[in-house]
Amino acid sequence: MNKKPILGIVVPCYNEVEVLELTVVELDAVLEGMEKEGIISTESFIMFVNDGSRDGTWQLIASLKERYRRVSGLNMAGNVGHQNALLGGLMNAKRHADCLVSIDADLQDDVRVIRDMVLRYQEGCDIVYGVRSSRQRDTWFKRTTAQGFYKVMEGLGLRIVNNHADYRLMSRRSLDELARFTEVNLFLRGIVPMLGFQTGIVYYERLERAAGESKYPLKKMISFALEGITSLSVKPIRMVTAAGFIVFAVSIIMALYGIVSNVMGNAVSGWSSLIVSMWFIGGVQLLSVGLIGEYIGKIYREVKRRPLYIVERELAPGVRRDKGAQ
Ligand code: UDP
Ligand code: MG
Repeated sequence: MNKKPILGIVVPCYNEVEVLELTVVELDAVLEGMEKEGIISTESFIMFVNDGSRDGTWQLIASLKERYRRVSGLNMAGNVGHQNALLGGLMNAKRHADCLVSIDADLQDDVRVIRDMVLRYQEGCDIVYGVRSSRQRDTWFKRTTAQGFYKVMEGLGLRIVNNHADYRLMSRRSLDELARFTEVNLFLRGIVPMLGFQTGIVYYERLERAAGESKYPLKKMISFALEGITSLSVKPIRMVTAAGFIVFAVSIIMALYGIVSNVMGNAVSGWSSLIVSMWFIGGVQLLSVGLIGEYIGKIYREVKRRPLYIVERELAPGVRRDKGAQ
């Protein structure tokens, strides 16, 4: 590559006032280091995306922009959720950059790895995944549920990169392709591997949150996992159909057995088996209906084609170096 690439770092932020001052210092230092080394262009920037925070995060971003020349900001008109905020950030920032790194605001992802990502990009990778080398720091619960999630995804034949969250580098052309995925039920970790392109992996150790609290409570985690599975695959619905067939076959056998034993004259009082099968079939039916509802809900949202995010304002990168005046 003969020209130094402009690197943008996109950071979704929801109620992150406690941590942003730390985050900006670290990210700015990483960019400065790479600029000095001559790896990236001096037009490289950080874009903080405020996802409808209630705690003054946007005011802080605006003040950071005054103090750091590399900082820019994007303000969502309301809270649109991590995935949508990230997508909005990427789609806006790609207009100003050759490649983008997405990273959480809380410094859990080791920022030193950004340099390795850029080197892989320069070697020709369009997408570079940040993958956690171990999950030792996680609670037992998070580790087990995450493993279970990956197992299910694998069982459904879905390609997702294990132990990779949304810490990754993407080239502008891969982002342009990502922009063509217009689905409303967005699960970036499942979609990015679908793009193809040459990919690379860099390993890192995930740290504790630098400050503040997790914005992903258990409830959000579960719905995120469910969203991931049902937005990418229709296999669960087929499995339910198959289960329905099996239950149906079993119930026919049971019915025949009941009739035969009745005719033979040794009919049992049969109350318990009746209750058990009633509950069982009822349960299976409810499960099926629930799952079908899940997909219908998705169709309902897809057909509406609502925008995934609404930008209220952009503090564009590089405004102070005013390109128009050159
Ligand atoms: N986040 C967001 N919108 C939300 C929730 C979270 O933009 O509605 C951001 C948050 O500010 C952080 C990232 O998503 O930068 C990941 O959230 P968090 O670190 O709380 O999740 P965890 O690491 O605990 O899974
Ligand atoms: Mg975090």
